[in-house]
Amino acid sequence: MAIRVLVIEDNVINRELIQCLLEVYGYDPVLAVDGNSGLEMARRERPDLILSDIQMPDMDGIELAKQLKADPLLASIPLIAVTALAMVGDRDRVLAAGFDGYIPKPLVPAKFGSQLQDYLPGNGPDTAETA
Ligand code: MN
Repeated sequence: MAIRVLVIEDNVINRELIQCLLEVYGYDPVLAVDGNSGLEMARRERPDLILSDIQMPDMDGIELAKQLKADPLLASIPLIAVTALAMVGDRDRVLAAGFDGYIPKPLVPAKFGSQLQDYLPGNGPDTAETA
């Protein structure tokens, strides 16, 4: 069964890019357009990995991370920020909120598969090596 990855991203272009890359690398993407629906979808789908934007309306990625990590059923799911935040200290802020890692935008398609595998040791789909 394919590894299910929940993508939480308010920008449609970024969301579709990440979806496309996940499919190319053999993952099974599930998409949410904001933090509230992302949290709801995480509870319903129990994904293997969660990728989240930081800057989103209503509930931003920082608040989302706090809520995911406060839920005992969801806290162990690797949570990766995908964001263009560039200010000094933002990386620490992201990790302090509960994110397990960080993939910078703009995404580099050729690197994306290995960046994900860093958070799924031994669990990446076979296609990730050749895609
Ligand atoms: Mn955004």
